[in-house]
Formats: sequence, structure tokens, C-alpha cells
Amino acid sequence: MSTGKVNLISPGSTHEFDFVVVGGGTAGNVVAGRLAENPEVSVLVIEAGRGDPENIAEITTPARAFETRNGPNDWKYKTTLIDRPDYTRVEKPNTRGKVLGGSSCLNYYTWVRGSKATFDDWEEFGGKGWNWHALKDYFDKPATYHDDENNYPHVRDIGMGGPLHVEHADLVPELRPFRDALLKAWTSKGLTINDNIYDGTQNGLTHCVNTIYKGVRSSSWSFLVGKTNIHVLSSSHCKRLLIDGDRVTGVEVHGPNGEDTTIQARKEVIVAGGVYETPKLLMLSGIGPEEELSKFGIKAISNSPHVGQNLLDHPIMPHTFRLKDGLGLDDHLLRAGPQKEGAVTAYNRNHSGPLGSGLLELVGFPRIDERLCRIKEYVKAKQENGGIDPFGPGGQPHFQIDFVPMFSDAFQWHFPVPPEGSWLTVIVDLLRPISKPGFVKLRSKDPLDDPCINTNYFNNHLDVIALREGVRAVDEILMTGEGFKDIIGEDYPWPMPRNSDEAMEKAIIERSQTGFHPCGTCRLSQNIDQGVVDGTLKVHGFKNLRVVDASVFPVIPDCRIQNAVYMVGEKGADLIKADHKDLY
Ligand SMILES: Cc1cc2nc3c(=O)[nH]c(=O)nc-3n(C[C@H](O)[C@H](O)[C@H](O)COP(=O)(O)OP(=O)(O)OC[C@H]3O[C@@H](n4cnc5c(N)ncnc54)[C@H](O)[C@@H]3O)c2cc1C
Repeated sequence: MSTGKVNLISPGSTHEFDFVVVGGGTAGNVVAGRLAENPEVSVLVIEAGRGDPENIAEITTPARAFETRNGPNDWKYKTTLIDRPDYTRVEKPNTRGKVLGGSSCLNYYTWVRGSKATFDDWEEFGGKGWNWHALKDYFDKPATYHDDENNYPHVRDIGMGGPLHVEHADLVPELRPFRDALLKAWTSKGLTINDNIYDGTQNGLTHCVNTIYKGVRSSSWSFLVGKTNIHVLSSSHCKRLLIDGDRVTGVEVHGPNGEDTTIQARKEVIVAGGVYETPKLLMLSGIGPEEELSKFGIKAISNSPHVGQNLLDHPIMPHTFRLKDGLGLDDHLLRAGPQKEGAVTAYNRNHSGPLGSGLLELVGFPRIDERLCRIKEYVKAKQENGGIDPFGPGGQPHFQIDFVPMFSDAFQWHFPVPPEGSWLTVIVDLLRPISKPGFVKLRSKDPLDDPCINTNYFNNHLDVIALREGVRAVDEILMTGEGFKDIIGEDYPWPMPRNSDEAMEKAIIERSQTGFHPCGTCRLSQNIDQGVVDGTLKVHGFKNLRVVDASVFPVIPDCRIQNAVYMVGEKGADLIKADHKDLY
């Protein structure tokens, strides 16, 4: 396997590196790329998936992103989504990227960061270095922002020359009537349009910035390109950390042909396997809740009770409306015919047209205080919370609303793709659920076995009620707002029971899905009784072992999370460099 751009090696070819990064995903590649800025330093990236994402058209072509779900580059986890006394739902696949670039190669592109108030909440866990002010520049550092047509002069430059190229969504001409109608409906309800959502407040309807540039996906492997001192061991699974007292000396790796190799780390091991695999690897290596490890005969080297706990995610409610014929992209992307042929030709010519689109052009961040204040369960919860809104205590938006102008099976794979017509998928994403977090546990002692994952949505019923009201609020804009009310039709596949609280709640419990933003399973902390890593991202009790990925988030951001994951990668790299003054 060869990329010609990234230095791929085979197991057994080299055995010692300065830094070993486990997981060539979103954050892992940022760390590797930054550490390799000193050409004298050797860095190994171990990646369980393929090492050549640039050769996989479903990954590089923006509008084909939904096709990557359940494919060969997806971990496709089985997951308990809901686990209530009255209702349990186990689903598969729960998608995570298994390829160089990790989930940054499978995600849906939106580049947003969240509110100041939410990141200020991180300080309670990570200390002074983890609040909005301290992290601000790290959100900008990974990216180069392009506005080639000068369409957004009022938006400040949100990049600092990093390897990841981002730009505002290409406004596809075919979507103009849809886009205009949505903007009109939104403002007809007195709601705002706001493109400046990057300075700590997010509200209104915004034109989306995406990790797409010139019609091609940008992903974290761009941090590795051209760095000859980074080696990538792809299709190789890290089985265990090798530990000697309070130091990690290396890792044990299962190679693509079934062979096992041992690799030594001279300086540090950085675990970046993502929110599910990182806690699993720590537990397999003897770092985790003693009681849990003992079930599998694993000796606890460090009894670290929070490993695998505090799994946070956004539950979403996807639903679909018919649009007036021709206003969505269904015929351009989902069905064979002249429009699809046109889309393929345009993309092959210069990466333009519907296939070069990330599909999301407009995203909404509403609060719905007025509606919530009419609901007795909410009023009671607010009173019990000292009069502070539990869903957005610092003024954060209650929801992220995605308007996907076609039927999106990625969020509704239980329903067939409609055979004809134009459709709109609306995704209502609850940004700060108050349910108790979920967890990740070992399924067995076999490193190749998937972990047990339980996202534990809706164990507090108020989250269901909030989603119920969120769906009603957005649907009211679409169904009665100026302009949009004239282009919207029936629900698919069956009517949404908007007039019954009980039936709406049932629909939400039965149809909700993951927003794909899990985090928190090795959270930042002041000590081992609060979490897994300290403010320098070192695992408590170890001198040269860090976790750098979405697992360390102590509080879920109030929007999609990749910008925050890249931020953690950048900050993590600087923290490591600060401990190796002889090298940096
Ligand atoms: C379908 C989907 C859509 C999304 N859409 C958006 C969006 O629009 N906007 C947004 O902001 N966020 C989005 N996200 C979320 C965002 O992409 C992720 O939160 C982020 O990429 C996670 O980064 P990470 O570094 O924590 O993990 P990952 O990027 O998942 O990286 C982990 C890497 O480690 C590798 N690995 C794991 N275990 C081992 C092992 N033992 N040995 C070797 N390698 C290992 C994995 O194969 C993977 O490459 C989406 C995510 C998904 C899955």
C-alpha cells in the first residue's frame, strides 16, 4: 500500500521511535505532524485502518460521505443507544473512521466550535489552561480559511495557516430556491442570520464553514504530508501498552498479516484511538476501574475509576419533509438518470456541482426559551437548578439544526430511500443533554473485539421533552414561515404526530440517533477521582503517557465537535513540546 505522500512502513521494519502515536485519526495526526516539525525527531503513527485515504473516492468526494457508513473504513460499532426501564435500543452501525485520518475522513464537514461559556466549564476539570481564552488560538491554528470569492468579508479569518483547508459551503446553484426560501422563512419569524459564530457566541442561522476546499474533503492526514520523519504503520492494531512502573516503554502491535511486533518509544506514547478505542486500550493495558478489569483477569496497574466513564454525545431527531419537485438534490445524487450523470461529469471536470458539495449550506442555532417555559417539567427542572436553564446555562443555543436538502439515509437507515421526489432531511441535535452519561467497557480480553458501548440517551425524560419541543419549533418555521410554507409537503415515511405530546415523545424515542459527537471517556481532571488525564493530558500516575483525542473532553461542546478535537490536538502537541525543551 503506498500513498506516495505519506511514509508508510511495514511491521518489523523499524522498532524504536522518539514518539509513538496510537491512532492516526483526527487528533493523532495533528499531534504527529506538529511533533515532526523538528526534522531530527522520529514519529510513528500506528493506524488500524488503511493508509491511503486519498485513493478512496467515497472519502474524498464531499457528497459521497454518507456512502462511507457501514463500509470497509467504518468501525461500525454495535451500540446500546437507549437503556431505560421502559425501552432499550441496540443499533449497528455506530460509525467511526477506521482509516488514516480517522473520523475526519468520514464526517460531514461542518467546522464550528461552540460557546465560550461551554469551554469555560472545562476549567473546573483541566485547570487554567483549559478555558475559552486559553484555547482560543488553538481553534484557529489547525486551519487555513479560504474566501476566494470574497463572499464573507464580514467574517473574521478563522485560520492561522494550518494544513487543514476550510471554506464556506459552496452555494450550489441548483439549491438557490431552497436556500432563499429557508432564509426568508427563518427571518419571517423574527430570527437572526449570523455568520459570526466563531468568537464564543453562537446563535441564529449561519452559512456553514466546511472541511472542504475546492470540492475535495480536507482531513487530518494533511498534517503528515511531506514529513519524512513521520512513519505510518497502517492496517495495524495496537494491542497493548508496555508499562514499566510509571513509564510506558512502547507498544505491542498486531500487523496486517497477523504478526505481532513490539515497538519502543524513547520519549512518549500518545494514545489517540478515539472515544471508544482509547479507553479500551488503557483498560487492556491495566489502566482502568479495578473491578471492571478483574472481570477479565487483567491486573490493574493503575486503578483509574473514570476510564470509559462519562461518555457524552448529542442525541438527534432526524425527520424528512417532501419539497416541491426539483428543489432538492435527490435526483442529482441518489437516483440514476440524466441529472446524476450531469453531476458526475461536473465533478470529474473540475470538482464542481452537487458532488462537490458538503450538502449542508445553512445551519441553525436556536434557543427556544419561550416554548420550554410553557412546560411544567421544564419549569420544575429550572427551579431545581437555581433558576438557571439546564439546557443552556450560559446562554448557549439549545439545538443545532441541520437542513440537508435531500433524503439522508445516514441518519435514517431504517427507511428506504424514496423512489421519487425531492426531500429535505431536518436534523434536530440536542446540544447539552442532561441525561446521565453513558460508558465504554471491555467486552473481552481480546484487543480485536469491539468494546461494549452504551450512550444511555434519555435516561432523563426531560431530554425527550426538549427534543419534542425542538422539532416542533423548527417545523413551525418550515411549515408556516414565509416562502418555505409554499415549497414544503408531507412528512416521510409517515406523518409526524405534532399535536400529541405522547406520540411525539414515542416518535423521538424510536427514531432518534447519534449525532456522531461522542466524547469524554478519558476526561480531563484535577486528579484520578475526577477523571483520567491531567491538565497536560498525561494519564494520572504516568510520566510519559498521554491521551489526545475526543476522549479528554470533560463537557460536550454545544455544536459539532471536530474543531474542538483539532484544538485538543494542537494544544496537546504544544504541551508535549513544552516537556521536551531539548527538542523544541
Ligand atoms: C459520520 C460522522 C459525521 C460527523 N460529522 C461531523 C461534522 O459534520 N462536524 C464535526 O465537527 N464533527 C463531525 N463528526 C465528529 C468528528 O469527526 C469526530 O468527533 C472526530 O473526528 C474524532 O476525532 P478523534 O481524534 O477523537 O478520533 P478519530 O478521528 O476517530 O481517530 C481515531 C483513530 O484511531 C484509530 N485507532 C483506534 N484504535 C486503534 C488501535 N488500537 N490501533 C491503531 N489505530 C487505532 C482509528 O482507526 C482512527 O483512525 C462526525 C463524526 C462521524 C463519525
